[in-house]
Amino acid sequence: MIDTIHKIHKIGFISLGCPKATVDSERILTQLRAEGYLISASYEEADLVVVNTCGFIEAAVTESLDAIGEALANNGQVIVTGCLGAQSDVVKATFPEVLAVTGPAALTEVMAIIHAQLPPPSDPRLDLLPPGGIKLTPRHYAYLKIAEGCNQQCSFCIIPQLRGPLISRPIGEILTEAEQLVSAGVKELLIVSQDTAAYGVDTRYRLDFWQGRPLKTRITELSRALGQLGIWVRLHYVYPYPHVDQLVELMAEGLILPYLDVPLQHSSPAILQAMRRPANSDNLLRRLDHWRSICPELTVRSTFIVGFPGETAADFEHLLAFIQAARLDRVGAFTYSPIAGAAANHLPGAIPEEIKEERLSRLMSTQSAISAQKLQARMGQTVTVLIDEITPTTIYAHSAAEAPEIDGVIIIEAQAKQLSPGEFIQAKIIDADEHDLYAKNLATHPRHHQHHRVKAQK
Ligand code: SF4
Repeated sequence: MIDTIHKIHKIGFISLGCPKATVDSERILTQLRAEGYLISASYEEADLVVVNTCGFIEAAVTESLDAIGEALANNGQVIVTGCLGAQSDVVKATFPEVLAVTGPAALTEVMAIIHAQLPPPSDPRLDLLPPGGIKLTPRHYAYLKIAEGCNQQCSFCIIPQLRGPLISRPIGEILTEAEQLVSAGVKELLIVSQDTAAYGVDTRYRLDFWQGRPLKTRITELSRALGQLGIWVRLHYVYPYPHVDQLVELMAEGLILPYLDVPLQHSSPAILQAMRRPANSDNLLRRLDHWRSICPELTVRSTFIVGFPGETAADFEHLLAFIQAARLDRVGAFTYSPIAGAAANHLPGAIPEEIKEERLSRLMSTQSAISAQKLQARMGQTVTVLIDEITPTTIYAHSAAEAPEIDGVIIIEAQAKQLSPGEFIQAKIIDADEHDLYAKNLATHPRHHQHHRVKAQK
């Protein structure tokens, strides 16, 4: 008979959803390995499967339910966690046979359920754990989650209901994790949370200590400290608060990448108000100008929703004019999709699907022309790039202006010289299409460096 106390159990893991969910998955996987469990790549070999789900839009719910069904069919022992897990009645009604259902960021709960099903080995082999934990992203870049939850009340979103109000991680803990990631070989940190610029608000910017140094729990202090670790630091999901100006100043100083991922969602004051978002788009254009004057090499990425309930033809034209005037570098756009539980579902004036689709395609074609012009304007530039992948013929890389997995890539012809993913090189941009750039490798670049002009320190 197998002694279950000493058997090393294998856990299968399916990770769906956004970068924030990826961080949750990494935490669970890291804990599993720390306790001596093995991770199985196949359903058949796994003793149990954890499915980390997404519940943000209808398509994500369907994908999550499909993944749960597949894991049940192929393994049978399934724990559901993540955003869809917050709607446990939906999951349980569809799949009554799942072992347990938890919500997002539920490391302790998931581990407790796994312990009850499959006791951990009595002598956890801590040396199984690579330094920096288990990463689902390639070793040279890693997501670093700095807070959980959100204090905003955007009417199309249920994240505050799913994940609760903003809870910021202690600044010292984040910086220690960042240092561990850097010593594990990470060259770029992607800072994520639901509302990154709000970091610390919930603690009233509490004073904390890191390496004996007093630091306030605030995004500017955190960014400045991260910027001194000698790697690239990229901020995602920056809500357009007034203090974003200070972050752009840090970008101009070369401390963090000059890349602002600022979800604006719309420009029409009426729609922004219905979305419960800041509603002054003239001001936004002025602020974009101001940010660009502080940091001329700034890349701005944003996302927009078209076909929000009550969006008139005039509202949509307002948005198109804003897109023309703002000349953003990268834009993601979506048609409005009602999410169960979102306040916006009760708004009058639902837009028919075909009009939503038509507006989306008009917005995207307007923006594609702008994005293409912006890429063309980079021809002839010499940029520092971080190598992501190498094939016998091609190097895939990205510069400060492209977020990995989100924006386009820089494609470079491979040469005989030995290079590896995670190395910085200098490249000259020689061609561009609508999304990607083509470049020539100039020379290897020193390992620790900053990405662009460094202004004289004040
Ligand atoms: S700021 Fe983002 S996470 Fe928070 S409510 Fe708005 S859309 Fe949702």
